[in-house]
Amino acid sequence: MTEPARRPTEQSADEPAGQGTALPLELLDATSDCVMVLDADWRIAYLNAQAIAELGDRDLLGSSVWEAFPYVIGTKTESALRRVAATRKSEAFEALSASPSAAWYDVDLVPFGALLVVYFRNITKQRRAAEELLRRHNELDTVLSRAGVGIMQYAENHRLIVINDRFCKILGRTREELDGLSMEAFTHPDDIPGNVGLLNRHAQSETPFYLEKRYVRPNGEVVWCSVAISFVRHSETNEPTTIVVAREITDEVEARQKAADTQTLLRGVIDGAEDLIFVKDTQGGVVLANKKMTEDFGVSAGQAGGAQFPELSRRFEEQDQQVIRTGQRLMIEEEVPTPDGIRTFQTIKVPWQRDGVTKGVIAISRDISERVRNEQALRESEERFRLAALATGDAIWEWDLVRDTIVWSSSSASLTGESPGEGFDWWHERIHPDDREAVVNSLARFAEGAEQRWESEYRFLRASGSYGCILDRGFLLRDEAGNVVRMIGAMSDITERVEAQERINRLQAELVHISRISAMETMGSTLAHEINQPLTAAGNYLLGARRMIDAGEPLDSAEVKDGLRQAQAEITRAGEIVRRVRRMVEHGTAEMHPVPLLDSVGAALRMAIPAPHAAGITVSTDVPADVEVMADPVQLQQVLFNLLRNSAEAVANSERKNIGITAEVQAGEVVIRVNDRGEGVRPDIVDRLFSAFASTKPGGLGVGLSICRTIVEAHGGKIWAENRPGGGAVFAFTLRAAPAGEELSPAVAG
Ligand code: ADP
Repeated sequence: MTEPARRPTEQSADEPAGQGTALPLELLDATSDCVMVLDADWRIAYLNAQAIAELGDRDLLGSSVWEAFPYVIGTKTESALRRVAATRKSEAFEALSASPSAAWYDVDLVPFGALLVVYFRNITKQRRAAEELLRRHNELDTVLSRAGVGIMQYAENHRLIVINDRFCKILGRTREELDGLSMEAFTHPDDIPGNVGLLNRHAQSETPFYLEKRYVRPNGEVVWCSVAISFVRHSETNEPTTIVVAREITDEVEARQKAADTQTLLRGVIDGAEDLIFVKDTQGGVVLANKKMTEDFGVSAGQAGGAQFPELSRRFEEQDQQVIRTGQRLMIEEEVPTPDGIRTFQTIKVPWQRDGVTKGVIAISRDISERVRNEQALRESEERFRLAALATGDAIWEWDLVRDTIVWSSSSASLTGESPGEGFDWWHERIHPDDREAVVNSLARFAEGAEQRWESEYRFLRASGSYGCILDRGFLLRDEAGNVVRMIGAMSDITERVEAQERINRLQAELVHISRISAMETMGSTLAHEINQPLTAAGNYLLGARRMIDAGEPLDSAEVKDGLRQAQAEITRAGEIVRRVRRMVEHGTAEMHPVPLLDSVGAALRMAIPAPHAAGITVSTDVPADVEVMADPVQLQQVLFNLLRNSAEAVANSERKNIGITAEVQAGEVVIRVNDRGEGVRPDIVDRLFSAFASTKPGGLGVGLSICRTIVEAHGGKIWAENRPGGGAVFAFTLRAAPAGEELSPAVAG
């Protein structure tokens, strides 16, 4: 561009044109502007070369400006021309030519004497450029304000050059507030050190960089942004400026954190699992293996699947391929050798799919060895239980009290004669009507109590229509709260046992009877002797009385009466003896009375060992005279009789034929002992001494001691035997001592 030419200076209006200083035409020719000179009649007096070039090669000199440029008429250019011509004061303006060229001109009107110099310069290009610049500027403004990102440019001292609305919104501050505010003022405190370091480093080299950071709004809200920072020099001033473009990513960061949390959570769940969890890709490579899998089998992601199980890898691969091929889940129970031996695993394999494409196999394996073992053990125990139930013939039942259902063992039918029903009613209805209430009551009491075992005996209707005797035993199971939930038990058919017991009882009673009769044999001579005595005496008294009457002498009636009274007394005594024997022989239930023990011992002794001297037996009795026991006198005598007979038999072949009877009172009980110096109780019989039919004697019945035990126990006492140091046996039994002041029973006197 050429230097703008010096322009001729204005001349005062009173200097006539062409007079005084003439137009410096050479100067006007040399100026870079277009120059046109008009005379006072608006005729074009001069055009310089630039003007001629600008206006087109037309011969305009001498023609009227209004004719040469008719389109000027009526425009502000015409008004300006006329004004300057009139006022003689320079004016400058920009004008759009109404000519077809539609060019913009920068126009200077300068009066020179009577002349008017029009300087003009085509500025269309500059105008267009300026317009373009403005338009672009406007556009940029729109773009910036609408941009989805925050844009900011600042110079030194944080002087804002540009900031868009978006950035203001992100930072929660107005443009005015931000102007001059340092970045630290709106950056999250934790991010400031890193941020400042980065900024300083990159500002030096003026290289752009990216970072993710947190801005903090005045209200404390935190906004995550992805930020691009670049450095440019101002186009005019060349001062360094910083451009910051920020995209809000709070949602993204939160979603990312959530995803990371979910990932951690998922990992935690997977690693916390007791099961083996692993994922393999279609090639069999391990994509994921949980902690358990890694710890137990050393399998971890990145390995080839099955590497740890060379002998099984083929099978595993086939399973995987099946899942991948069919897209169906697969459940496998398989045995796997492990360092701890063979274990059983239950594995579920499902296809791992993404966007409908199978990427591999997800597998979850559970070690079920324990369960399998337990199931096996349970099966075995159930089988044992079933066989045991079959062997005993018991009906085993399990009663669910919550649901009120009863499950019976298969063996039950053999006891009841039919398949048992499921509910309580089936059982309840079959209990004998006389027993039903007692059984149900005992069950109810039991359920309320703290006992765990229940037992009841009752009659139960069988399918055949007959009643069987049942011993039913149950065991109660409670829940943690102590509520009764289940009962398990067994019904045993004890019909035969009960019948046998009844037979034994009958037999025993019979034996007692027989024993008494057999005892009679021994007693026979004693009785004969005893009855003989009073009867002989009575006979003698009667004979005496009769002789007195027959003598015909005057009767001493007093003497006769006395003889008759004596005879009566002797007969009464004989009768008493007979009654006593009969009472002993009769069956009878124990009638307990206070009985003077010494009397019973004497009586028994007389019957058992009627003639001790003749037999060479010494009997010592050490029984306090005041001791009374609560007993049926006849049965007590029976016990003493049996023990004494045995002792007498025991000493029969012994050198020391000593028999002793002692009694001592201990805490309301009387212990009676019969001892001898016989051979003692033989070891082979010790265990069953008091059982029926246990005898070591040729022709012995073996019922004596059994009867003794029955009687003693019926009295609430105990009976036992011991061998004595130095030889012989002692048989002892206890009875309750009679409380003081009880009425005495008529003693079986000796
Ligand atoms: P039995 O006398 O008919 O054998 P018991 O029941 O009275 O029947 O006695 C059973 C067995 O007890 C006898 O056979 C004998 O072996 C043993 N026994 C009973 N009393 C004595 C005793 N005083 N000394 C040694 N053995 C005795």
